[in-house]
Amino acid sequence: MTTDAWRAPKGTNDILPPGSREWALILQLAQSCFASAGYEPVETPMFEHTEVFERGVGEGTEVVDKQMYTFTDQGGRSLTLRPEGTAPVVRAVLEHNLHRGPLPVKLCYGGAFFRQERPQKGRYRQFFQVGIEAIGSDSPLVDVEVIEVGTRFLQTVGVEPTLLLNSIGHVDPSCRGAYLATLVEWLKAHEGELAPADRQRVNTNPLRTFDSKENKTVGAMKAAPLITEHLCDECRAHFETVQELLGTLGVGFRLEPRLVRGLDYYTQTAFEFVAGGLGSQNAVGGGGRYDGLSESLGGPPLPGIGFALGVDRILLASSGQMTRGTQPHRVYVVALGDRAAREALKVTTDLRIHGIQAQLDLMGRGMKGQMKDADRTGARWAVILGDDELAVGEVTVRDLESGYQQRITSETHALAKHLGMEQER
Ligand code: AMP
Repeated sequence: MTTDAWRAPKGTNDILPPGSREWALILQLAQSCFASAGYEPVETPMFEHTEVFERGVGEGTEVVDKQMYTFTDQGGRSLTLRPEGTAPVVRAVLEHNLHRGPLPVKLCYGGAFFRQERPQKGRYRQFFQVGIEAIGSDSPLVDVEVIEVGTRFLQTVGVEPTLLLNSIGHVDPSCRGAYLATLVEWLKAHEGELAPADRQRVNTNPLRTFDSKENKTVGAMKAAPLITEHLCDECRAHFETVQELLGTLGVGFRLEPRLVRGLDYYTQTAFEFVAGGLGSQNAVGGGGRYDGLSESLGGPPLPGIGFALGVDRILLASSGQMTRGTQPHRVYVVALGDRAAREALKVTTDLRIHGIQAQLDLMGRGMKGQMKDADRTGARWAVILGDDELAVGEVTVRDLESGYQQRITSETHALAKHLGMEQER
């Protein structure tokens, strides 16, 4: 093995304890938050036919053109490690005809995604996202449901997000079509003010000029015509309803008329969650409507909306606040002597069966070593078993915070009840 083989590949992370506790908790809380609104888990493969992303994310996007891990398998097929979750979920819905059942189809997911980006804080080549998709309804109620679930979840995990909101209309000449013509005209007249790297976007994907990270372009685009001034009546009404309903739910937002998703199949609502403390990678998640996506994958017209949130960035933004105070009170069973060690295994197992997190010494440590280990594992309670205790069928329960201790029966039901009650306090 070369030295490099001992290192995780560039841009990937090993998620190790204690941080991995929080990471796992985020996935768990996501699932229960999404379930609260009826979103059911879906698992799609880690890789798809490359075409799914070429058509479903779109050629001309940074992700598809520059960042995909694409390979040819032994059978000569072009496959790609998934760079995002929406296109695979819509592909799965179409393949399994879920859209012919009750609508909307409400699905949620969490897992690893892959993009060959330049790694930096908050931007990796393997990263984790949780997300939801509601497929089959064009009602603004769904937009609001989706956005509220995202906001609430982020708050649950200790992130105070700012919600940026926009509508990018729909592709028709009466709406975005006319706007694009106006925009292109403006961009051509101001081409010299754009960063050279962005000039080609004027022809290939003008809307994405708003997405540029080049300071020069960002400055120039402040004067560009805005989509929100060119929405058709229907898209305007949809957007107004979304804003009004978010207001009734008390979900705060900031209108951001330069927020875009630059492909034809993205329609109407577009949003992003940003958070402080993340430096330049301040987006914790984003989402929007994709009413044309199903058709671009070869399916029937099928509206949809969803979001994806970056778990790595949530972890950076919540900086440990989430697990503070929510750690269950763990128990460490301390055994003094061989007989007690055997008994300790039984007591520990019984406590676990009663739903109490419990550990014991597995290294033959003495009393002092075991108490240290109890501390390391974050235990709140030590259940001490020595010859004295064994002789009378009792254990000593010590509160490791206050030092208060008392003898109680070792009968596991009673012990579990005692610790369980303590655990709830
Ligand atoms: P996107 O699919 O690009 O809209 O991404 C949704 C969210 O996933 C972003 O707001 C980030 O929080 C997260 N994300 C996207 N790409 C990366 C990456 N390369 N590394 C870490 N997080 C990412």
